[in-house]
Amino acid sequence: MPENVVIIGSGPAAWTAAIYAARAQLNPLVFQGNPFDDKNKQNGTLPLGQLALTTEVENFPSWPAGDTRAYLQTALKPDDVDFPYWVADNKEQPTEGINGPELMALMRQQAKNFGTRVESKDVVKVDLSKQPFTLHLHDGTSVETRTLIVSTGARANYLGLPSEDKYKNRGVSACAVCDGFLPIFRNKPLVVVGAGDSACEEATYLTKFASKVYMVVRRDKMRASKIMADRALKNPKIEVKWNTVVEEVLGNEKHVTGVRLASTTGGPGETLDAAGMFCAIGHTPNVGFLDGQLKLNEGGYVVWTTVARSYTSADGVFAAGDVADDYYRQAVSAAGTGCMAALDAERWLGHHGHV
Ligand code: NDP
Repeated sequence: MPENVVIIGSGPAAWTAAIYAARAQLNPLVFQGNPFDDKNKQNGTLPLGQLALTTEVENFPSWPAGDTRAYLQTALKPDDVDFPYWVADNKEQPTEGINGPELMALMRQQAKNFGTRVESKDVVKVDLSKQPFTLHLHDGTSVETRTLIVSTGARANYLGLPSEDKYKNRGVSACAVCDGFLPIFRNKPLVVVGAGDSACEEATYLTKFASKVYMVVRRDKMRASKIMADRALKNPKIEVKWNTVVEEVLGNEKHVTGVRLASTTGGPGETLDAAGMFCAIGHTPNVGFLDGQLKLNEGGYVVWTTVARSYTSADGVFAAGDVADDYYRQAVSAAGTGCMAALDAERWLGHHGHV
């Protein structure tokens, strides 16, 4: 028998879809990704998604300041604690909100509590041309499903310089929260590229470890929201290099030693000493496994074919979260669209006489 609903993903959209689908007695199956895959490690597409790579989440409703650790100890089951740190490691409590990995573990736990089945596998290929759909997994197995919810999120972009490639994991990173604490960055100057909320957040975070943080901004203004930009601009350890781009990552045989900047306004170039470069220049949706079988927009995001519905170009396939959102990209909006996708899948199954 094919599955009723398979959900691919591991972020707020996927777990919210799972909570709704499980409560509707659809017995959902979630493929949360393979935690041992090197590409997943590099791309930040591991179980629990992008939020597992963040620190405080201050804008997800219902998490005011408080002792989240005490709550986590009662809410999470021991078998659901596979993220890098856990409540016993004396990690600092967020002053506002909750830590990203904790929030994600709570969502997954809630989905499991209602009977969601979770498998740590990657879906590498799909056949959406006939019912039931076939999903091929990284271990060579496959499953069939009547409806599919695609909530695979998006991954961090890099500049695409050969010198950047050469120093990946040797000083070049796209995740300050994952790598910022590494000894090679301690008390050294660091570079953050980008001017959005992510760049401001990462630069501010890195000031905890670095002697100084340069923000390399290609225009003369930030893209970030005012509150995030102000926080970075007011930080005495952050210096913004306006109207500049990184032309080359410099390094020795072991790791990054600096970056060469070029001016975007015709000014002189400049070389900065730095032990690391963190890219925070936006994201690319994780759609490779779809192999062109769903309609995408020019940025590669899955297109919702009907306004305010999670329908995609394939009947019975629904999309939720950042993979279909190049605009809002918030945890709470992803969760909302996960709910919509589950309700849409339930209605599709009812309409076709399967439930
Ligand atoms: P954004 O797309 O908002 O910003 C990307 C930044 O990178 C821009 O400043 C862009 O410059 C710059 N950039 C892109 N390509 C290059 C390049 N090749 N060289 C140099 N600079 C480049 O991405 P974010 O990841 O910052 O944010 C995505 C979404 O997530 C947003 O909606 C944001 O609000 C949200 N977010 C919210 C957070 C929070 O509220 N706590 C934290 C982090 C993200 P330019 O401005 O010139 O285009």
